[in-house]
Amino acid sequence: MICTRCAKEKAYSEAEIARFREHGGPPLPPGICIPCIIRDPKLRADLYSWGDQRMQTLIQTARDLAARPLEAIDRFVESFR
Ligand SMILES: [Zn+2]
Repeated sequence: MICTRCAKEKAYSEAEIARFREHGGPPLPPGICIPCIIRDPKLRADLYSWGDQRMQTLIQTARDLAARPLEAIDRFVESFR
């Protein structure tokens, strides 16, 4: 599905997020892409509070790649394989 905020990037459905959760993934909001989550102070705080070291690293990576969000997303998704 496409992000309901920016209508550009890929976002995850509730089913996909449920699968992430089964693998210890973060509590992402459905329908919002990673760059939009990171741009939203509230959603970003929720993600940070999840507190997994791997995710912290990924968030940092995503911030570093703010100009290249698709690469950040690819890396994020790869981490759940
Ligand atoms: Zn978006």
